Amino acid sequence: MATKSTEKVTQAAILEFLRLKKIFHWRNNTGAYKTQTGGFVRYGTPGSPDIMCILKPNGHSLGIEVKDVKGYLNANQKDFKERLEAEGGTWITAKSVDDVIEFFDEYPNSPHSRIHE
Ligand SMILES: [Mg+2]
Repeated sequence: MATKSTEKVTQAAILEFLRLKKIFHWRNNTGAYKTQTGGFVRYGTPGSPDIMCILKPNGHSLGIEVKDVKGYLNANQKDFKERLEAEGGTWITAKSVDDVIEFFDEYPNSPHSRIHE
């Protein structure tokens, strides 16, 4: 599906940016699949974002949910976003790697900002 591949390309670019900037992060997989015996297995926490980051210098939590250009948050993701933000964390709904780069440009004292390169 075209939209899915767009999201995957965007996610790959974001993961590469985070890796190059040495930002502590991990892929946060959630989903479900059918087993060969007809069972249904869910994994991960519903609504949690595609990528989680822990930021210098204070361990700030950043969740990045990757969407294609027409994508939008589902109910579980909206709920998770609200909970993360209520705890002082940051949520980015990223439709391009630029959405993530712009965040780091504006993040206070970020060692990852372009102005520090
Ligand atoms: Mg996503």
